Amino acid sequence: MAKQSMLKFVNVGRDMPEKRPPDLRREDFHEIYGEYARDKAAEQAGRCSQCGVPYCQTHCPLHNNIPDWLRLTAEGRLQEAYEVSQATNTFPEICGRICPQDRLCEGNCVIEQSGHGTVTIGSIEKYITDTAFEEGWVKPIAPHAERDERVAIIGAGPGGLACADMLRREGVQVTVYDRYDRAGGLLTYGIPGFKLEKDIVMKRIDQLEAGGVVFKLNTDVGVDVTFEEIRAGHDAVLIATGVYKTRDLQAPGVGAKGIVNAIDFLTASNRKSFGDAVEEFDNGDLNAEGKRVVVIGGGDTAMDCVRTSIRQGAKSVKCLYRRDRDNMPGSQREVKNAEEEGVEFVWLSAPKGFTGDSVEGVMVSKMRLGQPDATGRQMPEVISGADYVEEADLVIKALGFEPEDLPKLWGVDGLEVTRWGTVMADFQTHETSLPGVYACGDIQRGASLVVWAIRDGREAAQAILAQLGRTTAMAAE
Ligand code: FAD
Ligand code: SF4
Ligand code: SF4
Repeated sequence: MAKQSMLKFVNVGRDMPEKRPPDLRREDFHEIYGEYARDKAAEQAGRCSQCGVPYCQTHCPLHNNIPDWLRLTAEGRLQEAYEVSQATNTFPEICGRICPQDRLCEGNCVIEQSGHGTVTIGSIEKYITDTAFEEGWVKPIAPHAERDERVAIIGAGPGGLACADMLRREGVQVTVYDRYDRAGGLLTYGIPGFKLEKDIVMKRIDQLEAGGVVFKLNTDVGVDVTFEEIRAGHDAVLIATGVYKTRDLQAPGVGAKGIVNAIDFLTASNRKSFGDAVEEFDNGDLNAEGKRVVVIGGGDTAMDCVRTSIRQGAKSVKCLYRRDRDNMPGSQREVKNAEEEGVEFVWLSAPKGFTGDSVEGVMVSKMRLGQPDATGRQMPEVISGADYVEEADLVIKALGFEPEDLPKLWGVDGLEVTRWGTVMADFQTHETSLPGVYACGDIQRGASLVVWAIRDGREAAQAILAQLGRTTAMAAE
């Protein structure tokens, strides 16, 4: 009888790839998890029980065929595993690293529900595609035939790139515009290297370029070229510009020197990792070295800021959040990583002002959780008489992001937006109120996740191809 390669969860425990010790992690911006050895990946994949109704797949926004690529990995058929995995995901090695798996695929794995510990889906997905790159199985796009239609994509983040990839595979002429000097969006300049090393992102961009995607970088649409100029030169346009307007604090002293936005801080740090000269980092404005750092916020961006500050050599790093640990939006896995690295969390604490012309401290109100609001979440309430000052030389505001007002910024009439300012578009076809104009990723959904941007980009590509097909058919009639 053939050797059983699956259903090993009863005898084999969950085992993540090795995590580097905190003392070493604090010293650099390299990823904190290692890679599985081949046997280990096969063993861990073999824990899957091959569910008839795989909840992992249902809860993956890309509906990845997880049971099949786990089985192929367990059987040592890695190239086939890669083929299955990349069929539904444009960037599996990126999702494997940075998806919040505990809220998506792994959080819904049935063997986790039965107390055996989830299959390590993300780490195996990463392993499969990292191996595919090493073995040369990942090839640049080579369409069967070139087509004349031209599509412009504004924004080179995961949404725009996923769409570019799918359109190029069909031979469409794709130009991606981005205001930055490197493609990748938040994969490149937002998310720190300890979660996603930059060469992983650059490798993908090189592949897209080698496959014929044209990048026009350092091109700020609305400044260097108008939206209407782009629209006039292309058969379809995808808006994939993300959300970058920082949600701000209204509090006395908030304009003091030394109080900075999370995205500026993280972008400067990521640029340094590329070896760029960054004046605001070199002059100390966006550099935590030797400082008492206070980060305000409880989401994943706040977690990235505290952990970046540690690596820059901050004297102390505190994270101020107005609710408690159980009610924070950030991932518990990231809180644990931050604590291991030396971050102190100050729960139930909200800023009410700042001291000093150059910031010296945060005036803190202590909070308690009161009655639930309309969403069912307990509202934080101030405890009177419990205020104090938290000393700080650098304060980083990580309170979330909002969309820029694109119709105004770009002077476009007829591009409708929602009441939150995101571009209004159909959630399957991604068509906006302007014919031939599509939107995807954060600028359509609001601040979200990489995996959702990829899904949107892929769906938008399907809709654009359908539009191009209709136009060609009409021209032939
Ligand atoms: P973006 O990645 O934001 O890319 C948009 C691109 O458009 C940018 O390159 C920008 O330069 C360009 N652009 C904008 N305006 C213009 C213009 N006028 N002209 C030309 N180009 C323009 N998600 C996860 O799944 N896991 C994580 O661990 C995670 N960590 C995060 C950490 C941080 C600090 C942040 C801020 C976000 C994180 N996210 C994470 C969220 C994730 O990065 C986003 O949801 C995702 O990148 C959105 O993709 P996008 O393609 O819509 O936009
Ligand atoms: Fe899980 Fe994300 Fe991979 Fe889907 S894409 S299987 S949610 S890690
Ligand atoms: Fe395997 Fe878990 Fe998915 Fe079931 S839910 S198919 S056990 S990974």
